[in-house]
Amino acid sequence: VFDDAGKHLCNSVVQIPNDWKLYVTILIDGMAIHPRIVQLILKADQILAACSLPVIREDGALLIFLFHSLFSGREDLQSQVIDPEQGITVEMLRRFIGHFQDQGYRFVSSRDVLAGLPPRGRYALLTFDDGYYSNSRALPVLEAADAPALLYVSTGNVKHGKAFWWDVLYRENQRRGGTRKQLRDQLLRCKRRKTSDIEMDLLRDAGPAALHPCSDLDRPFTAAELKDFAAHPLISLGNHTRDHAILTNYSAAEVREQLQGAQDDIREMTGFTPESVAYPNGNQSAEIVRAAIDIGLRMGVGVQSSRNHLPLQLDSPKAMNLKRFTLLGDRPIEAQCRASRAGLSLYQALRNAKPRANAELTPISPA
Ligand SMILES: [Zn+2]
Repeated sequence: VFDDAGKHLCNSVVQIPNDWKLYVTILIDGMAIHPRIVQLILKADQILAACSLPVIREDGALLIFLFHSLFSGREDLQSQVIDPEQGITVEMLRRFIGHFQDQGYRFVSSRDVLAGLPPRGRYALLTFDDGYYSNSRALPVLEAADAPALLYVSTGNVKHGKAFWWDVLYRENQRRGGTRKQLRDQLLRCKRRKTSDIEMDLLRDAGPAALHPCSDLDRPFTAAELKDFAAHPLISLGNHTRDHAILTNYSAAEVREQLQGAQDDIREMTGFTPESVAYPNGNQSAEIVRAAIDIGLRMGVGVQSSRNHLPLQLDSPKAMNLKRFTLLGDRPIEAQCRASRAGLSLYQALRNAKPRANAELTPISPA
């Protein structure tokens, strides 16, 4: 596949178990892959997973999964309050957990991970980013499955009851009748900036109420709700910076402020001190990792999709850069579960190859 100018835009090499090498060249039309090609890639993933799962060794791995807001059902998906792209419903979450438990995976907490997982097992860690109140809808499902979850909180949004800027951007784009491409371009521009600058522009363009949440779907927890939620034995909290700061856009001093500020806020609101961090949008560097370790964080997760092989090297920078899969609601959940277990997905490889540049392959909402 070539673009009009014959320009070569992306290359991925995927290693599969019996030493075949599958060379995949996907040429991208501008910044967006045609939906038909995405469909073909996903179909190829299903075939790869079906071929490889019977022969690969699934034991000895920790698979981490990233979710954001949790939709209650069709009504939420059609509400246009937040981008339905990820669109994971409570029912999908239940099927996701069931799939992994049926395959002998044990859902673990961050405490289990930091205590050291026995290296021969199959483990899954369920994470929710940002601090959406709608994550409380997961509790009945988690309780029924006895599955713990880790909530990475952007504490400024909780303390100030502030909507997340990417949801505001989505609504503004809808209101103006903007295209998907316009939204994507705007999002990519924002991801190169500091949160306070983005919010200032939104307030100027959309009025002083721009950052007021619309409903239970887009609002963050309140401090009191977060305290209750964190008191549940299946829930633990992690650091997602104070302002959902994409840390590579900040100075070294500001990075420390963002990480330490979130630690202080979570301790103040819940009495709990996080030991792990999810870097907003997955952006980190050696300096950022060092700053996180310096303030006492022992585990870090990004948005690169891959299995984490055991044993994890705890108390090393490697443990500060664990991989996470993102599942999407607009395609079959079971097929995505199988592709993650196989650790062999063209779709995920492509996402990893162009994680920041291609919004069709990167969820519109920042992690
Ligand atoms: Zn996030």
